[in-house]
Amino acid sequence: MLYHSTRNRHTAVDSAQAVLSGLAPDGGLYVPEKLPEIDVAACLRETTMQMAARIIGALLPDIPDMTTLVKQAYSGKFQTDELTPTVDTGKFTVLELFRGPTSAFKDVALSMLPQLMSAAKKVKGVKEDILILTATSGDTGKAALVGFQDVEGVKICVFYPDGGVSAVQRAQMVTQDGNNVAVCAVRGNFDDAQTGVKNIFATTVDGCLTEGNCLRLSSANSINIGRLAPQIIYYFKAYADLLKRGQIKMGDEVNFCVPTGNFGNILAGWLAKQLGLPVGKLICASNANNVLTDFITTGTYDRRRVLHKTDSPSMDILVSSNLERLLYLMSGDDLLVADLMKQLNTNGFYTVPETLLAKIQDAFWAGWCDDAKGAQTIRKVFEEQNYLCDTHTASGWAVAEDYVNQTGDTRPLVVLSTASPYKFPAAVLAAIGGDTTGDEFAQMETLERVTGIPIPGNLAGLREKQERHTSVIDKDKMREFVLSL
Ligand SMILES: *Cc1c(COP(=O)(O)O)cnc(C)c1O
Repeated sequence: MLYHSTRNRHTAVDSAQAVLSGLAPDGGLYVPEKLPEIDVAACLRETTMQMAARIIGALLPDIPDMTTLVKQAYSGKFQTDELTPTVDTGKFTVLELFRGPTSAFKDVALSMLPQLMSAAKKVKGVKEDILILTATSGDTGKAALVGFQDVEGVKICVFYPDGGVSAVQRAQMVTQDGNNVAVCAVRGNFDDAQTGVKNIFATTVDGCLTEGNCLRLSSANSINIGRLAPQIIYYFKAYADLLKRGQIKMGDEVNFCVPTGNFGNILAGWLAKQLGLPVGKLICASNANNVLTDFITTGTYDRRRVLHKTDSPSMDILVSSNLERLLYLMSGDDLLVADLMKQLNTNGFYTVPETLLAKIQDAFWAGWCDDAKGAQTIRKVFEEQNYLCDTHTASGWAVAEDYVNQTGDTRPLVVLSTASPYKFPAAVLAAIGGDTTGDEFAQMETLERVTGIPIPGNLAGLREKQERHTSVIDKDKMREFVLSL
């Protein structure tokens, strides 16, 4: 199956190459020329891992042996072989995406991407090692490190801003094991780290680090189609769970509410619908950085605003990269998309044509929730449903309530839960009125005592684990650091 750039329909590559390259050469994102056919009824009877092999295999047909790759990616690495269990809270169904090795939803995709890359490398006959370079503001770095740990033919180097991630996030990264991993703090903020990474990418020779050092650079961020494809699975899994519990009949539509940042997760839901899953409305939940709410309501995307630092930091984002894929797949117009992206780059905003806006509003609804409302929601859900959710999930829950109140839509609703409450212990503990004294590790213990919900194993042992990666460098030394690996 061929993939081409959202900005140019004439640049076709196969699915293995799309995974290897990440981004198209013109800066666009890879999209399939035509979506594959999926036997939805058969898929819904399968285990989560079978669903994964079927769906990812259909989208990336040039990568062989998908069943084996799925097993290598997920077997024994998640708390359950279901990977992403659902919980019926009595009000909404919560789809828990945080039961993986780092307790964040990014695990679902970043466990699979390394397997896909390493297999794609074999298919394309690429001999050189691949070096994954990533700047992280917290969650992605650790999930990528765990996913790529000891994967053959791939190395990974993660930069994070010194003092710019939480104590738990830092501890997760600096204690990382593996023979192919490097982690380094950069004196500066997240933007400095990200700019440093982009500069290293910009100075490659034929995709290699230097002429003498041919490591092929690649990235683990969510523009890669190999990260998007695995996220489609859990929409099928959630639907299958509702069927099993007798809450729906085959063919009934289900609404999904998704805490959104880069638009990757919710786009996977839209793709699930295109593959034939009976999805009703996709509800896009933002925090105070509500650029997507404005876009979906008005048709104008405007990034000319201040970035707010919120209690749901993984959604603090002004440019949602994956939206470009939706614009293309809905309009089929590469020239339009190229022009809109150019406007965004030069003017900081764009407006989509009326016909396209109508299609977007038919599929999506959008709302947002600030930190105060989020905290109130955590408390209310804990008291009323006896369910403890994290700050990102709380935004989703609050927006889901707004949606139901404003539309009266009675179809079943699934809220996607994107992080364990233990990844954000200070905010969660404060929300339920707990005592927040002490560092984040102490707060985790308090949260466990107050709620009776056990701390996930990967976070519980962190404080005692040995620190292996303690380098701190100036931002202009990042390239040197990479060359020394
Ligand atoms: C990355 C992330 C999100 C946002 O997902 P997108 O695919 O970027 O929209 C939401 N919540 C958490 C906890 C995340 O780590």
